[in-house]
Order: sequence, then C-alpha cells, then structure tokens
Amino acid sequence: MKLIVGNFKMNLSYYEIEKYIDFFKEKDYSNVFFAPSSIYLQKFVDAGLYAVAQDVSAYEVGAYTGDVAAFQLKNLGVNYSIVGHSERRKYYHDDELVNKKIIRLLEQEMKPILCIGENKEERDNKKYLEVIEKEIKDAFNNIQKEYLKDIIIAYEPIWSIGTGVIPTNEEIEEVIGYIKKYVKEKYEFDIKVLYGGSVNNKCIETLEKIENVDGYLVGGCSLKYEEFENLINNIH
Ligand code: PEP
Repeated sequence: MKLIVGNFKMNLSYYEIEKYIDFFKEKDYSNVFFAPSSIYLQKFVDAGLYAVAQDVSAYEVGAYTGDVAAFQLKNLGVNYSIVGHSERRKYYHDDELVNKKIIRLLEQEMKPILCIGENKEERDNKKYLEVIEKEIKDAFNNIQKEYLKDIIIAYEPIWSIGTGVIPTNEEIEEVIGYIKKYVKEKYEFDIKVLYGGSVNNKCIETLEKIENVDGYLVGGCSLKYEEFENLINNIH
C-alpha cells in the first residue's frame, strides 16, 4: 500500500484541526500520515492517527529557543519527521542542517522523510540528477549503512510545489528510478521514494500510472479533509 503524507505547513487553526481530527479519527487508513504544526501533533497522536513532524532540531537538547528536539517528538509518540523541505532550505538555510537533523532522528529510532528536488533553472539546465545526488550524499554523510534504512525520500521538484505545474510521468519515473538505483548501488538498500508537488484530485489518476512511486507527499490538497479523503481513495 502506498504511503500518503499530508503536509499542512503553517495552516489550520486550533478549531479547524479539531474538525479535521474528528473527520479522520474513526477511519482506518493505516497508510495515511498527517504533518500538522508541532503544537497539534499531540492531538493527532491522542486520536490514534499517525503524526509526522514538519521539522526537527539539529541539536540534541538545551538552549535552542524555538526548536523542538527529536527526543521530545518521540516522547509524544511521533515516529516520523520531514527533513529538508524546500521551504526550510529556502527560508532557514536548512541545507547545512539536514545531515544533523537526520542523525538526531535516527538516534531516537525515528524515520526521517528527506525532501530533495531541483529548482526550475536546474531542471532546464539538465542538472537535476546532479542536484539530487548531491542532496542525498550530503544528507547521508557519515551515517552508518545499517541506520540509513529507516530513511524515506520524497522527490519534490521545487518548481512543482504549490504551483499546479506537474512533471510528466516520464520525468518523475526517471528521477525516482535514478534515486533508487543510486541508493542501492552506493548504500546497499532499497529506499522508498514518495513524489510531492501539486498532487491533487485532478492529476492523481495520471500519477497513479507511475510504476516506481511508493507514495505521495501532499501539501495544498491535504488541507481540506474531504478533498484529502477523495485523494486517498484515488490512490492504490
Ligand atoms: C509540499 O509542500 O511538500 C507539497 C508537495 O506541496 P503542494 O502539494 O501544495 O505542491
């Protein structure tokens, strides 16, 4: 079954979250995960839903105002965290922190969902495979092979996030195939790769024809619970 992760980003009020949880809590979607703002994670866990952090601190513990540590997430019952989302790379210089963040998560036996992907210029200049390879290499740096197995990759071309512009199936298949082959050859394990970028109910039928995708990271379309449930039911 494909993994589906809804990334709410910095959206939804407390009351909207309560309604959202009410809608999903009695449903039995074992492959659906929710990534709300960290202040709401506990509510998802308490409702028996799978909660994913949108980010984690690069540091273990201590004087890092505003950060949330991996051990604190783990204490809440959160077992997954997104790392290196392009918005964090863009606004918070996360490129340099991704490797440390992954290490913090693995220390807690949590699963990182590592986001990678090229921007428009890199795509147009046919540099996208290089970019992807570098992002994986940097993220996996100095981590023993046995621990890497817990990492999931989300391939998210930056030019597709929130834009409604979706790569062709061939373009997605090429990159996902490349990631899987690269990880298998260099790190010797089979990695799961999600696709993310403007996934919605209009394009899902086409995306579902891609053979090598293991799931989806969904932004905008996860914000309205009914739309998100439609999407879930369109994924096999
Ligand atoms: C995302 O932010 O991870 C994402 C894929 O967003 P959207 O689905 O809105 O493009």
